[in-house]
Amino acid sequence: MKYIKKKLTIDRVTIQNIAKKFDTPAYCYSYNQLKKNIDNFKKSFKSFSPLICFAIKSNTNVNLIKEISKFGLGADVVSLGELMKALKAGIKPNKIVFSGVGKTSEEISFAINKKILLINAESKSEILEIERIAKKNKKSVDVGIRFNPNVDAKTLSQISTGKKENKFGIGEKDFLELTKYIKKSKNLNLKCLSVHIGSQILDVKPYENMLQALNKIIKKANYSFEYIDLGGGMGIDYKNDKKMLNLKNYSKNIKRFLKNHNSKIIFEPGRSIVGNIGTLISRVTYIKEGHNKNFIILDVAMNDLMRPALYNSKHRIMPATKIGKKVKKTYEFVGPICESTDKFLTINNFQKLFEKDLIVICDVGAYGMSLSSNYNVRPKPIEILIKNSKIKVINKRQKLTDIV
Ligand SMILES: *Cc1c(COP(=O)(O)O)cnc(C)c1O
Repeated sequence: MKYIKKKLTIDRVTIQNIAKKFDTPAYCYSYNQLKKNIDNFKKSFKSFSPLICFAIKSNTNVNLIKEISKFGLGADVVSLGELMKALKAGIKPNKIVFSGVGKTSEEISFAINKKILLINAESKSEILEIERIAKKNKKSVDVGIRFNPNVDAKTLSQISTGKKENKFGIGEKDFLELTKYIKKSKNLNLKCLSVHIGSQILDVKPYENMLQALNKIIKKANYSFEYIDLGGGMGIDYKNDKKMLNLKNYSKNIKRFLKNHNSKIIFEPGRSIVGNIGTLISRVTYIKEGHNKNFIILDVAMNDLMRPALYNSKHRIMPATKIGKKVKKTYEFVGPICESTDKFLTINNFQKLFEKDLIVICDVGAYGMSLSSNYNVRPKPIEILIKNSKIKVINKRQKLTDIV
């Protein structure tokens, strides 16, 4: 995204142009940025060519997943619906891994029938259920066990998943018992050790600790895993201050780790692939002058983009047209919903805004549209892909008649 002659553009298409054609609010994705992210990800880890399974939950647009699949990526899914979307987007079953603590019998049966690469189990009960279904269908099923390494990801507590108090994964003692159990099973093949310690991780240290914990548990289990699935969680630069996870550094750590283990690495990145490809275009409905600040009431709300309300996360906001003149007021950008958490950002010294002006909310490609809802009976936004300066609608705006 950049300003050309004071007009904000995505791959040379102006925000104004998009808003005029498709109205607001609109999710807009940049194909160029997607390509850059995937190329960079692959390049960073190319010395051990991992299988990269895109975490579908971060963006579930089938047309976008199709583009991602064309780069050779697989999928990490956490529900039957996501598995069906991944298949519909053309991702081959042998590149799909299934994660999650509560897979139902229906979900497990479907996954077994489709012969996906791995079902990563998160409890003894789940292992027993997979075994029961496999036996009933006279099948032999490849599974992984998700290990809980008890590592602090040093990220928001709401998106931390690798500590022993979290519901995810299996602790050391149970892990060792389960490994023994599966080794003897006729219907289960233990293929993978998986972990995922959290999201938006900016520092490589938690990953180092995670790899150390893996080293230990593998030694104790005395088992050679065909796959080691390191999950996702790679943090991106939301603040535009160049602080993001150093992938090359992480890569070096993994290379060192692999000297002792003859395993294929799997990654499950979501945010780092699609986070910064998405922009949410919105129009100012009203400006309400408050005591110390002005409320900029947008036509976009927490139902369209829930991350600020859910995690208190901050997404940068930029004007669609730069006029340069700044005001010494505090602007609070809010949505129209009757909830105090329906707000996006508070900014001092923003440029002067007027009613009907266009603004954009940045870096909403991951956990933006996929977390959206119809709260307040608001239709979900349109989704647009900009590829080679051409605009393509990849998901129509929901019609009010469909939801009323
Ligand atoms: C959410 C999730 C991911 C993706 O996390 P990002 O932070 O978006 O990379 C990967 N694996 C599992 C098991 C997850 O739950």
